[in-house]
Amino acid sequence: MSETSNLNIAVVGGGPGGYAAAFLAADLGMSVTLIDPELNPGGVCLYRGCIPSKALLHVAKLVEEAEQAKNWGVDFAQPKIDLSRLRSWKEGVVKKLTGGLGQLSKQRKVQYVQGMAAFENSTTLRVTKNGGGEDSLTFDKIIIATGSRPAAVPTLKLDSPRMMDSTGALNLEDIPGSLLVVGGGYIGLELGSVYAALGTRVTVVEMLPGLLPGADRDLVAPLHKRLEKMLEAILLNTTVSSVKAEGDGIRVTFEGANVKEREKVFDRVLVSVGRKPNSEIPGLDKTQVKVGPKGFIQVNKQLQTDDSAIFAIGDVVGEPMLAHKASHEGRVAVEAIAGHKVAFEPNAIPAVVFTDPEVAWCGLTETQAEKEGREIKVAKFPWGASGRAVTLDRPEGMTKLLVDPQTERVLGVGIVGAGAGELIAEGVLAIEMAALARDVALSIHPHPTLSETIMESAEVFFGTSTHVYRPKRG
Ligand code: NAD
Repeated sequence: MSETSNLNIAVVGGGPGGYAAAFLAADLGMSVTLIDPELNPGGVCLYRGCIPSKALLHVAKLVEEAEQAKNWGVDFAQPKIDLSRLRSWKEGVVKKLTGGLGQLSKQRKVQYVQGMAAFENSTTLRVTKNGGGEDSLTFDKIIIATGSRPAAVPTLKLDSPRMMDSTGALNLEDIPGSLLVVGGGYIGLELGSVYAALGTRVTVVEMLPGLLPGADRDLVAPLHKRLEKMLEAILLNTTVSSVKAEGDGIRVTFEGANVKEREKVFDRVLVSVGRKPNSEIPGLDKTQVKVGPKGFIQVNKQLQTDDSAIFAIGDVVGEPMLAHKASHEGRVAVEAIAGHKVAFEPNAIPAVVFTDPEVAWCGLTETQAEKEGREIKVAKFPWGASGRAVTLDRPEGMTKLLVDPQTERVLGVGIVGAGAGELIAEGVLAIEMAALARDVALSIHPHPTLSETIMESAEVFFGTSTHVYRPKRG
């Protein structure tokens, strides 16, 4: 893009939404100020979310795989975990990546201000700098990218270092003997898996009837089965009615029809029951920005708020609260500011849960199709029939395509299995390019790889998959 603009813009919040927006704005020739309290851009994702958790999940996978290696005739000794080295490795990863973003920011001549912003009016921000001092700065446009924070539950409020949110859990202060994870969603299952691999007895309590309530049940089933082996217990349809600090633990009371043990003491408790948007920005009431009943800032398809000078992107504007959605929105907002004809209207936003096995999906889900009474055909390829999956000793996976029976267009893709998070990108491309099941079936995939399961699920749709025998009817 060769277009330049002499606009002066501010981005409030330096996460994957904010820095992607700031960098593109600079690339388009705008003068950009990026405001965030951290030393470098990165936000929750890099400092206290996606990145440190994935570093730890990588270690967890290694520990689990070393255990599984017994089945392959390779017997490793019990792992010895040096917690301070593990912590410093994780911190090193964060430092490297956030430092890199700081460099990219300087190279693009983005003014990075370490501080907190408040609105004086629609175009003026009062920035309180970390080192002290305040600046009043005026811009043509402002992009709000303030993200979200862990949701707090009144019954789980307890001032104790043993009570953790995701940030506390990622700090990895110790390897507790026992841990209760409240909430069987993304964070609970990812961080619960990390602690379980490090040797903690982990119990997950989920108020709904299944783990990962947003995902199709057939994708969750293989994960649930593996977690049952890894974890101490998975309590479904159960909530926590009270927590009390007691001696050297937290006494927890459970509530639910199937509860067998009403009270139990845990060394630590991780609360991961969702996130809340950070829309309580000081001075926002001095602008025309509107905030909806759930706390999300209201925006149109160009990510513009009800105040024409202010745009908002990422977790603060709504679900799904995912870094890649935020980055894409950030780029759309900047292009809209630059005067390009753009809109945020993706057909597929991938979701990935980085457990083992990973669960990933994009586009339409079966649950959603059912809810909308939409007719679809589902083609499933079991990984037991994948050569690559069997060589990895991971035959429990499954790949499925959701196809429109009339047009044969691919509407959704769901994958559970090792590496599903990488594989799902092909599904996103297929959906965004309006691929037909035939296109996917006719694209030669490398052998032996797990990617073949996507091609073969398209073959399953036509009843002609090489590795799945379907007896002829009649
Ligand atoms: P979540 O929405 O994924 O899961 C919260 C779970 O807690 C749900 O299953 C819900 O039913 C349950 N719950 C709610 N109240 C409860 C209660 N009182 N008792 C028991 N269970 C209760 O939320 P999260 O795990 O906190 O993660 C927040 C968000 O962060 C996610 O929705 C996601 O957008 C994002 N995130 C993404 C990734 C990723 O992309 N891999 C990883 C971590 C977080």
